[in-house]
Amino acid sequence: MNLTILLVDDEEEILLSLSRLLRRDKYQIITATSANDALEKIAVNDVQVVITDQRMPGMTGVQLLIQLKEKYPHVIRIILSGYSDFNAVSEAINSGAVYKFLSKPWDDDVLRAQIQEAFRYQMLFRRKDHLSIAFENTIEGLIITDSQGNIESINPAFTTITGYVTAEVIGQNASLLRSNRHSPEFYQEISDSLEKKGQWDGEIWSKRKNGELFPEWRSISAIREADGKTSHYVSFLVEISNQKEKERQIQYQALHDPLTDLPNRKLFLDRLHVAMEQAKRSNYYMAVMFIDLDRFKQINDSLGHDVGDDLLKQVANRLGQSVRGEDTVSRIGGDEFMLLLSRLPDPKAAESIVKKIKAKFQEVIHIGAHELHATLSIGVSIFPKDGTTPDMLIKNADTAMYQAKSDGRNDFCFYSSDMNQDVTEKLLLKNALYKAMKNEAFLLHYQPQVDLVTGQLIGLEALARWPRPEVGNVPPSRFIPLAEEEGLILEFGRWVLKTACQQIREWQEMGLPMVRVAVNLSARQFEEDDLVDYIINTLKENNLSPGVLEVEVTESLIMRNPSKSAKILAKLRGKGIAIALDDFGTGYSSLSYLREFSFDTLKLDRSFVIHMTENPEDAAIVDTVIQMGKALKQNVLAEGAEEENQVKALQAKGCGLVQGYWVSPPLNANDTAAFIKFWEPSKIVDLWSRVDSRVEGDN
Ligand code: C2E
Ligand code: MG
Ligand code: MG
Repeated sequence: MNLTILLVDDEEEILLSLSRLLRRDKYQIITATSANDALEKIAVNDVQVVITDQRMPGMTGVQLLIQLKEKYPHVIRIILSGYSDFNAVSEAINSGAVYKFLSKPWDDDVLRAQIQEAFRYQMLFRRKDHLSIAFENTIEGLIITDSQGNIESINPAFTTITGYVTAEVIGQNASLLRSNRHSPEFYQEISDSLEKKGQWDGEIWSKRKNGELFPEWRSISAIREADGKTSHYVSFLVEISNQKEKERQIQYQALHDPLTDLPNRKLFLDRLHVAMEQAKRSNYYMAVMFIDLDRFKQINDSLGHDVGDDLLKQVANRLGQSVRGEDTVSRIGGDEFMLLLSRLPDPKAAESIVKKIKAKFQEVIHIGAHELHATLSIGVSIFPKDGTTPDMLIKNADTAMYQAKSDGRNDFCFYSSDMNQDVTEKLLLKNALYKAMKNEAFLLHYQPQVDLVTGQLIGLEALARWPRPEVGNVPPSRFIPLAEEEGLILEFGRWVLKTACQQIREWQEMGLPMVRVAVNLSARQFEEDDLVDYIINTLKENNLSPGVLEVEVTESLIMRNPSKSAKILAKLRGKGIAIALDDFGTGYSSLSYLREFSFDTLKLDRSFVIHMTENPEDAAIVDTVIQMGKALKQNVLAEGAEEENQVKALQAKGCGLVQGYWVSPPLNANDTAAFIKFWEPSKIVDLWSRVDSRVEGDN
């Protein structure tokens, strides 16, 4: 920084000798011969010190300095004059317009020392000024205390942050900001650090005047005197509430599912860990439940994601209502939830909670205009019996859940050690199924249906086969539910329809007499809006009339959504497609719905036919069904007739149609063609003489 002095005197020689003297100290010197001259020069130069004579023509030195004090308060103002002028100057000294009075004639060394001191003072003055500007304007709160922590000054930012104004805190101990969030040891650490290092900074919770707590970043420095004793402490404080809140939010998001607000897998694992440690110490039992919402994908696909989301939220709610506050309900993804029941007095308690959950889900869930029935598959594992690590407990609960699903949905299952094998097998089968789907590795076999009275071949039922060279055939009762579970059944159903139609056309092209083919439909296909269109198009593509096709539906399929089913069936029937009710007798079998849906054929379930000759109750059911069919003018076809006495009994009761090993097992396409070709009504007479029940030869 340039050190510039303005010398003002009407005597040129004085200006000259002063200049010469002071240049030795490397000051930059500007001279003026009158007060006005000085005012002009100071306006265009950066001057730190002015030394002026008192008696000058025009304006006196004091008058000049009074003006300078107004305009340039930082300039150090000195009078250098005869001692006799002191009285004229003393008042100006008292008012602060004059910093020093130096007398003429001067001693060179004393004068130089005085001027050096003036510059030092000027610098200090400036620095203090800068500091106080910073002090007043910073957004950081500042507190200056004495060595005992009593507040000496604060800045406006401190007031903004804490709510205390100056008058309320001056003289008070800074400890008035303390919150109850920290231990005495924490404050002791601060004191120790200040003692040793003269410095402390860190996060600290403090209390505002209104009692509210807030987090701040505090930085405290000890101001030490020459002897090393602390005279003051200066503290910065920066409020970090926003930052804290953000951190809290980020942490919350990392541990919770955004849709349901439930703990996520990570938090669940944490809690499981902690609960397990506690359970080990206190000999409590614990249960982990793995819960999967049945058919969620279908709801999501057919009703849309908004409905799906709402459903998940409501499920989360109901699960929450079913457990105690100390238990954890967590959503771990998609439609999967996990429950942690900590501190169970005995394993049985888990079962009662499962029952409570199931009861909660009995009530329908309303979402907008939709009434949904959410069903759950629940797998349970118990600590310590089923695992002593979190991973084991979760894995085994998962296994039990899969078991519950394959036992029929909407069920629960407690883990048992032989489940693992089943699940592994199922997993392998599932993978194979996906491959088979891709490679169209399925076949259709056809089982003849005949009229016992006329001997006519009246139809064929298409039955899916999955030959697996490595492991043998997989029965449809195993792979069809799996295809449903995996959402593959639509594609599969279409493949069956398409293949059956192509086969019928092929037989027609071979010149075989036309025989109607029945195709089984699964419930999921029924939920597709374009089912009817697909069937009609497939028939058209193969140049077939609708009369060549029959669809088989089950009671449970229809009752899932009776009004929609009625519409679809009416449409199919309107197009000329026949409809059979499969597995008849095993479900509701109410007259009213039989009338409403008016099927072409009722297929009497094999389970009744098997035992009808030895079990009078089954015989009675068969009777009733046949009578119902007659009353409704619907055909009744008996499934699974294997033996002659069964066929005879059926015929005696007036049931004219059969499908079963007694006539023929399901046959592959070639054998079916031969069967059609060589079938003659008179053969039924031959069959009467056959007594052996055949084993299905096609699998
Ligand atoms: P379903 O529709 O009731 O089919 C009749 C089942 O009874 C067939 O079993 C058939 O082989 C068997 N069966 C017929 N006569 C006799 C007999 O005299 N004795 C014995 N013991 N069994 C007999 P399959 O082929 O194993 O099919 C089982 C079920 O799988 C079918 O029951 C049907 O619900 C389903 N299924 C088969 N193919 C398809 C398909 O292409 N699509 C759909 N959605 N389901 C199918
Ligand atoms: Mg069937
Ligand atoms: Mg059946």
